[in-house]
Amino acid sequence: MPQPRRSKKPAEREDYGWVISFGCKTAGELRRLKVDTDPASDTRPVEVPCLCGETHRVTVSPYRRRRSADEPFDLEVVSLDELRADA
Ligand SMILES: [Zn+2]
Repeated sequence: MPQPRRSKKPAEREDYGWVISFGCKTAGELRRLKVDTDPASDTRPVEVPCLCGETHRVTVSPYRRRRSADEPFDLEVVSLDELRADA
């Protein structure tokens, strides 16, 4: 006997994290850093270990925004504190 499937999920807001865009001058490209937690509470610059092998200093506040479900990203951290040496 097949079990009826409950497809209804509780109304929960989907959370895909945040995206901070930053320019990689070495590669001449725009990269995306995904952050799981809202970075708004702390807008100090972060040191991002870029794919190009260098570490870029990135300003947080003006560039952060909600990430959409299928938006690609180059790097991912849980918290921006991971990218701050003095944290
Ligand atoms: Zn780079």
